Amino acid sequence: MKTDELREKYLTFFQSKGHHRQASDVLVPTWDPSVLFTPAGMNQFKDHFLGKVKLDFTRATTCQKCLRTGDIDNVGRTAYHHTFFEMLGNFSFGDYFKNEAVAWAWEFLTDKKWLAIDPARLTVTVYKDDDEAFKIWNEKIGLPTARISRLEEDENFWPASAPSQGPDGVCGPCSEIYYTLDNGKTVEIWNLVFTQFNRVGNPPDNLRPLPSKNIDTGMGMERTASVLQNVPTNYHIDILMPIVQAASEVCGVPYLYESDNGRRLRRITDHVRACTFAIHENVYPGPKKARYVIKRLLRRAVLDGHQMGLREPFLHQLVPVVADMMKSVYPELTQTTERVAQVMRREESDFFATIDSGLERIGRVFNEMNSSGKVMVDGQEAASLYQTYGVPPEMFQQIAAEKNYTFDWDGYRAAMGKHGEISGGGGMELFETGPIESLKEALQHCEFLGYVNTKADSLVKGIIIGKPKSDHLVSSIKSTQETDLTRIVLDRSPFYGESGGQLGDTGLLVGSNGTFNVTDTQRSGDLIIHYGSMASGELKEGDMVSAQVNELHRDAIRRAHSATHILHHSLQKTVGSHAQQQGSKVDADWLRFDFSNQEPLTEEQLKTVESLSNERIKDADPIDWKLVSLATAREAGAMMLFGEKYPDPVRMVSIGEFSKELCGGTHANRTDEIEIVEILAEESVASGIRRITALTGKKAVEHRKRVEQLATQSASLLGCSIANIGEKTMELVTGVRKLKKLASGSGNEAIPELIVRGNLTPSSEKYSVTRTAFKQASRAVNVAAEEVPGRIGAILLEQTQIHQQLQQLSAGGGTSVEDLLSQAETVSGTRMIVLEMPNANLGMMRKWIDQVRKQSTEPIAILLANCADDKVTLIAGISPSLVERGLSAGKWITPVAETVGGGGGGKPDLAQAGGKLPAKLPEALQLAKDTWHSMLA
Ligand code: ATP
Ligand code: MG
Repeated sequence: MKTDELREKYLTFFQSKGHHRQASDVLVPTWDPSVLFTPAGMNQFKDHFLGKVKLDFTRATTCQKCLRTGDIDNVGRTAYHHTFFEMLGNFSFGDYFKNEAVAWAWEFLTDKKWLAIDPARLTVTVYKDDDEAFKIWNEKIGLPTARISRLEEDENFWPASAPSQGPDGVCGPCSEIYYTLDNGKTVEIWNLVFTQFNRVGNPPDNLRPLPSKNIDTGMGMERTASVLQNVPTNYHIDILMPIVQAASEVCGVPYLYESDNGRRLRRITDHVRACTFAIHENVYPGPKKARYVIKRLLRRAVLDGHQMGLREPFLHQLVPVVADMMKSVYPELTQTTERVAQVMRREESDFFATIDSGLERIGRVFNEMNSSGKVMVDGQEAASLYQTYGVPPEMFQQIAAEKNYTFDWDGYRAAMGKHGEISGGGGMELFETGPIESLKEALQHCEFLGYVNTKADSLVKGIIIGKPKSDHLVSSIKSTQETDLTRIVLDRSPFYGESGGQLGDTGLLVGSNGTFNVTDTQRSGDLIIHYGSMASGELKEGDMVSAQVNELHRDAIRRAHSATHILHHSLQKTVGSHAQQQGSKVDADWLRFDFSNQEPLTEEQLKTVESLSNERIKDADPIDWKLVSLATAREAGAMMLFGEKYPDPVRMVSIGEFSKELCGGTHANRTDEIEIVEILAEESVASGIRRITALTGKKAVEHRKRVEQLATQSASLLGCSIANIGEKTMELVTGVRKLKKLASGSGNEAIPELIVRGNLTPSSEKYSVTRTAFKQASRAVNVAAEEVPGRIGAILLEQTQIHQQLQQLSAGGGTSVEDLLSQAETVSGTRMIVLEMPNANLGMMRKWIDQVRKQSTEPIAILLANCADDKVTLIAGISPSLVERGLSAGKWITPVAETVGGGGGGKPDLAQAGGKLPAKLPEALQLAKDTWHSMLA
């Protein structure tokens, strides 16, 4: 039986037993902070199991995309483990229980109409105290007792070992179904979990029966397919073997089941499938959490390729094969193969660039450990390997384990500091507890009225105070009370709780005895949580309050939110349909919009995006929303984000005829309410993701005014037209840079002309011209916009000062080479100049020496001196022909420098020295002359 057929049969079977067929939840459930990846089919129903949500159905069946990081090390080694796999499941929320769950599982597995597995191949396990389950298997199904094992709580309880070790909360025994292979070995294909207890404290008598019992089952789809297809491992089934084969081709090694390379190809198959699904959901390889897991999986697969001799990115070539194998259930994969492959390729080449050096370093580490007799890999070393070569510690650990070395995780963690780097589900709680959770159970739901109203009468249902973990419900709160983090839950509310990137509302809850000031609103599940503090008086649970949203703030947020939809549309028109939303943040007249694009946008593209958006705003198109079924929305061509979990029905927001998006946010009524959108910046946030920051409404208008003011100020300082400030500022900055270089003694160009202020009084320009010029100017001076005019003023002043300085210096230095030459004495057929140059610096004196040597027709020796700030600077040079005669400027300068209390030296042709006794300079200069005489004698 083909895998696609098995999946379909399972879902059809349970539909025929009255189950609602629900789509797979996303692989990376950002809505659930307790897990990084969906670990099992039941994850999307956690709130259903706890009775925290209104139930539209009490039986459900799914095929769920799962990823288990805990199984990474099993991949490739065992026949039956993946990281990414699909779990088939049927669920009962207080509806049917053990009898039906067991009977249906048996019917589906053995009935000729369904899987038709030979019953003699099946054995089961039950929890040792679960007589009820034992009886059902034995008496109702007729399974001989020899084929029913009773196991301990570590094997057959969910969560494992919960009775003795916790955690408290919902739990129950389970019953596993095993298939016996031809070789007599067994494989677990299905696990039926009977959640029937609430654990309260430690044993004994700590398992209280739940009033409503649940069923949660999970069948490994690949495992069952491998059994049905009678193949040796999960990797040999029809939807996986083609990937193994493609990997074998891309890597250029044959696939042999029992070889090292066989294991590598299976691991590559698993990891590329996991990464394809995750990247498809916009979880790109990165430093933390789910992104880190993907980075690690990808790099692990690259290492496998490397060990088979590959040195170039290869993994990305398998993306289309994965999409092809999975497309019958996940057709959306085929729409993103290019993007996914591109992201993968980039990460691959990053790792290939450092992997050789990384492995070499690992080799050295092992050698050192060997010779010093150490057996534990140093954590610090591992941290440095990760930071320098990008070798994930888990990979290092695995390589070390192959050599029987242990790994110092504590040391690694200490070295990395408190990072979120180390991933895995460890330490996360499956079910949250606390006052918000109990309110959820009690209320289930808090109606949001804010699409239509900004004011409503509501009942105070809960008041919570205290930091997380120590927070609790109180019956009243007074303004005189000192509290941490006060939160109010109402039965219904016009306040928008932060979600979908849109920030929460602010406002007031006005009761008859007191007023609560709402500074932020958040959502938790279906509850709306109002954060803030008592402004006056007292509020009690059960009070009626008038909930009043701050309308100005809300309006500004609405403008910004509608603007993100318009920007999204303009971006796709300008750079292409791949420019999809990757995230956003919507605040009062301020927004941030992330989208996929490999390159930065050009100035031209950015201008087009902005002007297109502003045209749409001027059109004054109506903005409407309605609730439609997901299918209708899809047909209408509404923009949907992969990896987003959408309710059904969904809220579809449309703007004019040009934009339809699924969105839960609040919006303007017409586009012209936005006034203008002004893009402030475009930058990179992550590989392949760009970010636009923009303003709307009042803030955009004020921003424009301010840019005009600053540009005008800059222009009047420069005395040029506004259109010219960019160019003029750049000229100024380059000029000053040259002047500074000269003043520091390096460079030997002539002193450049002063960039003088023009005498134009600037008049206003078109805004787009002003903005471009001003942007150029700020880039040139490299300071924040507000500081640009100040900086231009300062540079103008600086320019004049340095210029004056330089002119003084060159004026004082004896005017010309001819002048200098005319002061030369003749000494034994050579010319000699010894001179103090009061205003010259070292660089200038060196220049004089060069030019004098060049222009003198006879061999010449020159020594120049200068005193400044109680320091003497000496520099001496002689013609090349004198050097050839064995004379040396270094030797000449040494006694002179000693006289002024210093030292120095240099090469035969040029030497420099310093001293601390300016008063001795006349004596030193006389000595210089005498020395030259005696050197030639
Ligand atoms: P195992 O002990 O074999 O790892 P498990 O006890 O972790 O399995 P459950 O958590 O009960 O498995 O998950 C339900 C079913 O999902 C299992 O019966 C099995 O068929 C399948 N399954 C679990 N983990 C994996 C995996 N890593 N790869 C493929 N299938 C899996
Ligand atoms: Mg397991």
